[in-house]
Amino acid sequence: MNVDSIRDGIVIDHIAPGNAMKLYDLLGLAELDVPVAMITNVVSAKRGRKDIIKIDAEIPVDINVIGYVDPEATVNIIRHGELVEKKRIGMPETLVNVLKCKNPRCISCCEQELDQIFHLADPEKREYRCVWCEAKAADI
Ligand SMILES: [Zn+2]
Repeated sequence: MNVDSIRDGIVIDHIAPGNAMKLYDLLGLAELDVPVAMITNVVSAKRGRKDIIKIDAEIPVDINVIGYVDPEATVNIIRHGELVEKKRIGMPETLVNVLKCKNPRCISCCEQELDQIFHLADPEKREYRCVWCEAKAADI
């Protein structure tokens, strides 16, 4: 399977080896009713090795989740067999309903209607903190 075989869909490229599985889980790709291909440990000129995820449908994906797992990843949108958009993502400033706060005393744990919001506290360490209680997000 290569990009040419996708007519309309999304290719997440330049994923660091091992991160494709995390993305697959966090993006909830298993729950989709569309073909998804995950290719791991592909030889890459840029990164040595990389993972690729191909989704055979143009579905809404949470770009912030991709940037959180791997800021170096690129998202390619394919329409009618052609690459129409290529996005570099980078580290998102905020993550909404992606991570759950682990602090049992956090207000977001008992107030069900509150969104789980994390903000980028330290870009160098890729550290995210809960906006409600400032607890650190667990490593991915
Ligand atoms: Zn919290």
